[in-house]
Amino acid sequence: MVDRNSSLYKTFHNKKGIFFDMDGVLYDSMGYHAEAWSGAFSHFGIDFPQEMVYHNEGRTAASTINLVFQENENRNATELEIDRIYSKKTEIIADYPDALPFKSAKLLMENLKLQGFAIWVVTGSSQDKFLDALLLDFEGLITRDRIVSGRDVTHGKPHPEPYLTALEKSGLKADEVVVIENAPLGIQSAKAAGIYTVAVNTGILDDCVLWDSGADIVIDDLKELEIL
Ligand code: MG
Repeated sequence: MVDRNSSLYKTFHNKKGIFFDMDGVLYDSMGYHAEAWSGAFSHFGIDFPQEMVYHNEGRTAASTINLVFQENENRNATELEIDRIYSKKTEIIADYPDALPFKSAKLLMENLKLQGFAIWVVTGSSQDKFLDALLLDFEGLITRDRIVSGRDVTHGKPHPEPYLTALEKSGLKADEVVVIENAPLGIQSAKAAGIYTVAVNTGILDDCVLWDSGADIVIDDLKELEIL
């Protein structure tokens, strides 16, 4: 648990902005994505275990599909293959209930906002359905102009572009910000942008995967930051 004398507490209180990832940080949604990706590939006779979804979280859909085709067939997928597999994934996930926000994420965000931190969301997602839900579920905390989505970047995570874009738009410097991420590629993206990164391990990967991706600290639940 973080106390007022801890280095993590001091790290936060030297900053001006907090950049939150969305899936797996603000929403308990990764289980659905893992099942949907795995199910979509399996529909086309391709094995893609759910654990691999967690390892590759943050990639664009096309990048994920190309990666699997490179591993299985030594080639990129065609536009048609990408379209079919991604449509299947979207179709599967549409049948699931809406993902719920993590209560601890909302409480933390409310607390940080009250203290004057600038709150941003940096997500690879570009689907209106999820971005609209985000604005509704975190009403008063997140505004459209403080979301960097998959639409705002050319290169998704692990490229630093998403977090560099958030720095540029917010006018904050890398050393004025903390990133909160759950995924290996998201952590790599934030660290490549030069930002202190808290990893919250809400998924099925071992903590060591998040440490190896460059996380500055790994925690199990955002509740651990409630004293901030
Ligand atoms: Mg995530």
